[in-house]
Amino acid sequence: MIYSEIDLERVRFGDTVRFSLGPDPGAPRALLSLRPRGSMRFLHDSANPLREGFFRENGIEPGRVLAVELVHSRTVLFPSGPEELRGVQADGIIVEPGPWVPTVTVADCMPIWIRHEPSGAYGILHSGWQGTGILEEAVRGLGDRFGALPSEIDAVLGPAIGPCCYRVPEERAEYFRSSFGPEAARLEGGAWRLDLGAANLGIARALGLRSVTRILGCTSCDPDLGSFRREGPERFTRMVAAAVWGSSGRDAA
Ligand SMILES: [Zn+2]
Repeated sequence: MIYSEIDLERVRFGDTVRFSLGPDPGAPRALLSLRPRGSMRFLHDSANPLREGFFRENGIEPGRVLAVELVHSRTVLFPSGPEELRGVQADGIIVEPGPWVPTVTVADCMPIWIRHEPSGAYGILHSGWQGTGILEEAVRGLGDRFGALPSEIDAVLGPAIGPCCYRVPEERAEYFRSSFGPEAARLEGGAWRLDLGAANLGIARALGLRSVTRILGCTSCDPDLGSFRREGPERFTRMVAAAVWGSSGRDAA
């Protein structure tokens, strides 16, 4: 597996993170709104003008956006359009090449972009501690639907709360170490700390993915990122992570 790391600052353009999910010109693009954009919260029954403004500025008509209410599950959906997602709860969305823009929101949880180049399928996952393992479900789903082999799949692990800030009870650390490898949690400064990036990297290595890129940054340390832990449950800023097919999303930007 090819592994690389990128500093957040290298893919940050103002208040948006942008990068390509592959070196080829047709590769899907990834977007992540930063905290100054405000809350990108998605609920099925309420409009969010900040979200719509963010998508429009990035050349994405809001009607193309796919979203579900997140529940910290490992459920990954493969919808053919937005009507299939009405009222639905899940934590990952993968689509075939086309107009749809799969999204999740994050604030300490890890956004994971995924791509299967041979079929063109691409999507986004929401992986907090409870949902860790959703990457494996996504790879399984790509195999079932597109005959994808893990060695054909690329993933990008986005910024999340780092072990510097993510103290957890010992039971949770033990669960992580036994499920995802000893790197997934460590004892430091007298406290157990989870490392969502290491856990997902362990999953990706065990599966044998083609490549994993990790975007370095801690949501709780960096004030430009939305963080449940730093900002608190009443006012934390949900950032939106999106995957956009080819160059289509850029045309109007
Ligand atoms: Zn930190």
